[in-house]
Amino acid sequence: MPYNPLKRHSGLRLLQPGQAIGMITRKQQERASQQAAEMMRRAGIFITGREAHGIEVVDFGLSRLEQEGVQVLTLVQTERISVKALALFPNQTEPEHWHPPVGSDPGKEETIRVISGTLYFYVPGENTFREGFLVNGKEHCYTVRHEHVMRPGDQITLAPGVKHWFQARDEGVVMFSFSTVARDVMDQFTDKDVVRTTKIAEGR
Ligand code: ZN
Repeated sequence: MPYNPLKRHSGLRLLQPGQAIGMITRKQQERASQQAAEMMRRAGIFITGREAHGIEVVDFGLSRLEQEGVQVLTLVQTERISVKALALFPNQTEPEHWHPPVGSDPGKEETIRVISGTLYFYVPGENTFREGFLVNGKEHCYTVRHEHVMRPGDQITLAPGVKHWFQARDEGVVMFSFSTVARDVMDQFTDKDVVRTTKIAEGR
């Protein structure tokens, strides 16, 4: 069955009056991209001011960036490959997801290499969950519990379609992602509330 991106938006959510669905404010976005740029620079990655400005702040449409989100600087993006620097703030978690096949492409194959901080990385396999934590109220959205505690210089390669999620604790984490072509909007998430495109509320 072909993947239907519209399906992602069909989940009903209860909103407080005045609450926007899946949004961060422009101010939040600017603060987060600046903080991510500082972390990347401290980790020894040279980035230009223009690149710092272009860091994508992803809240996965969940509007709780500090808990679930990631900051992404795309360094290379062609029809075939992708290189990104990622920053996770302290105690921030990238929700569980996988990279499905898209047309004749079997799906994204990806290597994550840690540059600074300690990364708690989860894949399918024996439950060895110990050092990380499950996001409050979202336990059911984190189903793979085989734990890798990764430090600078450690890296992991994921075959297409393998579920994974990852997390920073006290200190944040800076990492590289090297992969075949990234089509982030096609990524699939265990949490049905996730919307991959972050909306930014203007004028606040
Ligand atoms: Zn991934």
